[in-house]
Parts: sequence; C-alpha cells; structure tokens
Amino acid sequence: MPKRRSRTRLLVPAALALALPAAAPRTAAAQTPLRIIVFGAHPDDCDMDAGGTAALWAARGHAVKFVALTNGDAGHQSEGGGALAKRRRAEAQEAGRRFGIAEYEVLDNHDGELEPTLAVRQQVIRRIRQWQADVVIAPRPNDYHPDHRYTGVVVQDTAYMVVVPNVAPDTEPLRKNPVFLYSYDHFQRPNPFRPDVAVAIDSVIEKKIHALDAHVSQVYEWLPWVDGSLESVPKDKAARLSWLRQQRSGQRISDEVRAALRKWYGAKADAVKDAEAFEVCEYGRRPSEADLRRLFPFFD
Ligand SMILES: [Zn+2]
Repeated sequence: MPKRRSRTRLLVPAALALALPAAAPRTAAAQTPLRIIVFGAHPDDCDMDAGGTAALWAARGHAVKFVALTNGDAGHQSEGGGALAKRRRAEAQEAGRRFGIAEYEVLDNHDGELEPTLAVRQQVIRRIRQWQADVVIAPRPNDYHPDHRYTGVVVQDTAYMVVVPNVAPDTEPLRKNPVFLYSYDHFQRPNPFRPDVAVAIDSVIEKKIHALDAHVSQVYEWLPWVDGSLESVPKDKAARLSWLRQQRSGQRISDEVRAALRKWYGAKADAVKDAEAFEVCEYGRRPSEADLRRLFPFFD
C-alpha cells in the first residue's frame, strides 16, 4: 500500500515536466534520462575505459551503472583472496561515488579465471535487462588479458539475447535491443579499434583522476608493481595523486580518435587533451548519427 501511494506522488513531477512549454531549454531533466551500463573485467576497468563519459552523463541526470565481472581477488603482488576482493569492492564503491554514477556492482567471479560460460552470460543478460539499458559498453574481445577478452565475448553474446523472452526467463526481457559499444583499445589484430564516437573529457578529467585515486590497491600498488615502477609511487597522498594525474591524463590521442573528435566537435577538437572513444558493435541496435547525438548529448 505505501508503495502505491509514493508511486502516485512520483507521477506529479513527471506530468509537470511534460507540461513544460516547448520553448524551455531541453535539459536532461526535461527528457527521459538515458540508461547506460558499462561492463569491465576488474573493479577499475569501467573507470579507465568510460569513467569520464560516465561522469558527463551522470552530471546531466542520466543513469549510469558500472559492473565488474570479477571481484579482483587475484591481481596483487602481496594480497589475495577474500580480503583483497573485499578491499577492491570498497574501492569500487568509493570510485563510483566520486564519479557520481548511480551504481557500481562487483560480481563475485574469481579474478584471472573468467570464462565465457552460459552462467556468466546469464549474469550479464540479467544486469542489462534490470537496468533497462539504452546503451551497453564493454571491451572488445581483443586484449592481452583473458578476463578482458572474455568480458568482451560475454557482453557481445548478450546483444540480441536480451530481447529473447525464453532466455533467462526469470528476468523481464527488453523489447528493444540496446546500442552496444566497445570501449577503446590499441590492439591491432585481427582489426584495429574504430572510433565511431569520441568524447572530450577535459571538463571531467580531474573527477576521473580523483575516482581512479580511490582504487588504491590497483593504481598505487598492483599496476606499478607489474610495470616495475612501484618505487616511483610517492608515499604522501597528495604527491601520489599528482603522480597519478601525470600518468593518467594528457596521454597521446591517436590520429583516428582525433579525427573522430573533429567529426563530433568540429574545430574545437584540436584543443582536446583527454578523450574516450567507442566503437559501435554490429550485434546491438545499429544507431544512426542522430541516435548517437541523442545518446551522447555532449557535442553542442
Ligand atoms: Zn582489468
């Protein structure tokens, strides 16, 4: 009963929003918010691949969810197992809070052991349906890390299946296949990444760095250890944040991504310092240019 009452109340602001005069600025609040779900293999991958764009969407009132398919319980030089998974989960929650996104879910699959099984595919199908996603983002199936590769395979395998009622029938199927996008990578074989959309994230790069800073066990411990640069990480919190900023901002933008920025931003593109880029997956809904402008409301 109380549920029904609060639902009726919710209808009132929606009706008011619809009643806005046509001349009112088309702000995010006056439109139906977009629903975006981003998948990564580990608790930090969504952040690196799409964190800036997610922050831009979130700031405009759109609903963004990050999902890590593994719990991150293996990738560390001196910690592991349940205690590490717990630490990674807390770091992801804090990063999600700093990005301003709606949810950051970490699934309890083991790190370093992800396989493109039917069970994992169903986990992903359910997440996409429950989120009622308009846009799904994941890595391509070409990557150095098997967890990243299989995340790409699994998410790609859910395109179309999310609308099939008899697949994972415990979850309401979508009526419309979402737009599936691959996040940027630099791998060349079997084919290089094609940036169909490029988003300038200069206005939120500080937010992205601040969110990455929440992944202490990754960005200040594990990744520098793997690179053999652990000694270069400052101990002091402020100093290590500026070290992170140096590492993770102002990286070279590829010629292809720069060309995509020019397509979407025109002359302003040449001044862009940080960007994220996405490739349309052929197995999801095929968006027109107008669809992409609606889904990425950042280009005006
Ligand atoms: Zn990863």
